[in-house]
Amino acid sequence: MKILFVSSEVVPFSKTGGLADVAGALPVALRNLGHDVRIATPKYRSVDDQKFGLEKIIREINVHFQNDTYTASVKSAPLPGTSIPVYFISNDYYFDRQELYTTGGKDYPDNAMRYAFFCMASLWMLQALDWKPDVIHCNDWQSALIPAYLKHHLYLRTNEFYNDIKALYTIHNLAYQGSFDRTTLNSIGLGWEVYTIDGLEFYGDINLMKAGIVFSDAISTVSETYAKEIQTPEYGCGLDGILRARSDHLTGIMNGIDYTIWNPETDKLIPSRYTMQNMRGKTICKKHLQKKCNLPVNKDIPLIGMISRLAAQKGFDLISEIADDLFAMDIQFALLGTGEPDYENVFKKIGEKYPSKAGINIMFNNQLAHEIEAGADMFLMPSRYEPCGLNQLYSMKYGTVPIVRKTGGLADSVIDATPETISDGTGTGFSFEKYDAGTLLITIKRAVELYTKRKKSWKKLQANGMVQDYSWTASAKKYEELYKILSR
Ligand code: ADP
Repeated sequence: MKILFVSSEVVPFSKTGGLADVAGALPVALRNLGHDVRIATPKYRSVDDQKFGLEKIIREINVHFQNDTYTASVKSAPLPGTSIPVYFISNDYYFDRQELYTTGGKDYPDNAMRYAFFCMASLWMLQALDWKPDVIHCNDWQSALIPAYLKHHLYLRTNEFYNDIKALYTIHNLAYQGSFDRTTLNSIGLGWEVYTIDGLEFYGDINLMKAGIVFSDAISTVSETYAKEIQTPEYGCGLDGILRARSDHLTGIMNGIDYTIWNPETDKLIPSRYTMQNMRGKTICKKHLQKKCNLPVNKDIPLIGMISRLAAQKGFDLISEIADDLFAMDIQFALLGTGEPDYENVFKKIGEKYPSKAGINIMFNNQLAHEIEAGADMFLMPSRYEPCGLNQLYSMKYGTVPIVRKTGGLADSVIDATPETISDGTGTGFSFEKYDAGTLLITIKRAVELYTKRKKSWKKLQANGMVQDYSWTASAKKYEELYKILSR
């Protein structure tokens, strides 16, 4: 089959979160199943033409919006290490910017136009290339207009080339919806007939996530539990009703992870590689991480790692509530993250108050992310909600035991450690259900106690996680099934 994968971020070209990891890995797994997969993504400033060998393949595509015509060019380069073509939609005015979506912590005011332009140019590009996919796989609000354009854009829906192209829409995080003032509707090339309760209308605004949900031929999200959760008012972010209405077309497919990048046996970004049979390298990684975070070097103190966007979703209010109790314990903590200024300040203060226990790194740094995965003993993810979560999967592979709240993909991948689950091989971490600071503290204490008092059980728990297989192959097969159903 022919599949165009459309994503606003793709590893190794651009990344703010998990979507980028997915976009850099799922197409490869699909290609390995024999499909002709190609990727469309914006040409941001972070995409270095020289380094990645970009070549201009289309000089000019005219994109008409209202009374204005904008032009895009298309550059292309293979996804590194593969022959998968990546098409970079280029327009310096829209994409040659420092950050992907924000400036000074605030969304760019023209985000609706930027991604409408991206969607429209990606579509017109197909005809210019004379390459017609069976399915366009769209992801999150940034590419959610594609299904709307296929069905409702005057020129596209009447153009035979686009007639029977199907659209799959994947929700990676329902909370980021792309809501804009309704007056934007005409500027992004759609008419008032889609401004309805069954269309883009959402409490007086337009909502691009909703466009993806209502106009795609099928919807997926990134874990089975999240697929159920988002149909409830608690997790539905106001869209649960429309998701329930389309529940026949909604599936959950757990993300995989790329073991060519995240594997302690081969990882070149960590100071020493290790295997389940020989974990000596992990001790070296821990020592290295302790030094790097200015923490006392001691292999026996449990070191808890955390790598995350600093956003409310990730449970930081719980951590700040228990901070004093947590640091009263004989533990160390290594945090890597950037995001909301309030949370950055909370952690900076924690770093100042507990300099010998907390290594706080307010930055985005891929190398340090690998070093934390390898060097920490435990990994903390007390998320309020978590569509899939990747770091718990990386952590298991690195023998770093995850401590998670039982929600979304965390519920689907981490099984709570009890004497039974540890010994029968199913236990892979520590999980708690109630979103509550006291419950989090008790769960961390359970983990620390097992680590310090029951070394043998701890080793078995690490091993249980390390043998899990979250490679992309199984998930890619599920997507393949979906594509097949769509194009029947
Ligand atoms: P989300 O998509 O909600 O941010 P995921 O767990 O799905 O959460 O994916 C987050 C990805 O981003 C992981 O690969 C993680 O290692 C990475 N990441 C998050 N913050 C940082 C950071 N500050 N530095 C490096 N990598 C980060």
